[in-house]
Amino acid sequence: MKHKLLYFLIIILLLFVYLLAEAEAWLIQELSDTQSKIARSAHFDHTTGRVKNIETTTELFSVEKGDKEKRSSARIMYELFLNPNKPNHIPVVSGSLKTAPDRDFVLWYGHSSYLLHLGDKNILIDPLIGKDAASPIPFINTPFAGTDAMTIADDVPQTIDLLLITHDHYDHLSKQTLTQIVKNKMVHRAITPIGVGKYLKHFGFPENIITQVDWGEKVKIDDVFSIDTHTARHFSGRGIFNKNKTLWVSYVLHYGDKKFYIGGDSGYGKHFAEIGQQYDKIDWAFLENGQYDQGWREIHSFPEQTFQAALDLKAVHLFPVHNSKYKIAYHDWDAPKKDLWAVWQKNPTAVHLVTPKIGEIVLLDETYQSVAWWENIQ
Ligand SMILES: [Zn+2]
Repeated sequence: MKHKLLYFLIIILLLFVYLLAEAEAWLIQELSDTQSKIARSAHFDHTTGRVKNIETTTELFSVEKGDKEKRSSARIMYELFLNPNKPNHIPVVSGSLKTAPDRDFVLWYGHSSYLLHLGDKNILIDPLIGKDAASPIPFINTPFAGTDAMTIADDVPQTIDLLLITHDHYDHLSKQTLTQIVKNKMVHRAITPIGVGKYLKHFGFPENIITQVDWGEKVKIDDVFSIDTHTARHFSGRGIFNKNKTLWVSYVLHYGDKKFYIGGDSGYGKHFAEIGQQYDKIDWAFLENGQYDQGWREIHSFPEQTFQAALDLKAVHLFPVHNSKYKIAYHDWDAPKKDLWAVWQKNPTAVHLVTPKIGEIVLLDETYQSVAWWENIQ
């Protein structure tokens, strides 16, 4: 009886969350160029208005027989949305920006949020900083203890030269973080996939700094920086009915002759090798490694696939993200790290694995020594 009541309450809560999300997605006005960009795009199905993956992709597979017990609906909701079995405390280095050397570096905020400091420019990717929940409701999908220590005031530079958003999911596009950033920092330019720009405008960004991109475009930023946009194998949406109405992208950021692959979320697919073939090498590949499951095996990658994707891309450094801050799958928080580490150790010369703590400055001009810092964290 008690169990049923809990189940009922969770359903009501989720319905409420979805209605809120749905309302936001429908009520916000599109940017003025969205419709014409969709009309020109070969990647939207023009009858349904929804994005099509390059490869046939199933978003959700039905539950396997043996897993039925483990995956009752009540348990799924409890595990994914209320984050039980969180690690007690994940160590985070906060405030490191204040003492950062005047050199190229990357700073990881946990999950898929990071800052690239290249020359005198700051490029911020999919920021969720500090206490942000990866959902529209502040107490659902909260960060693991310790990982909320960084703040927008101390850990985000005053000037953001370029903001890159990969897609509109709540763990990549945060109203809370972005409204604070636009209020308190100077953002010069933002790039989003087609259809996602409206959220930035709604959060307070001026429309004239937002560029919405399709797959296969080139965007010149200045004489040193440019961006190529590529596909990813994923999906989009912030509610039930707006699924795949906006695009998702991956980026290759050129900085002089250096190339950074900003993967966003992606299941493994042939696109990694196809992108890899277009470049002599990728210096740094930021790839998702975490929140995978057999149930959604085509839209997120398992650790061995993340490793293979890095090889396909001809990456010199592999920086795994999409882990260590939120629980959005059934696996233990440290499983992506342990499993990728094990795969990498079988072939350690293939790619430099970069595994810093959240908030640590990683200098891009020095060889990074991989460390398994997550060992012994309960
Ligand atoms: Zn996603």
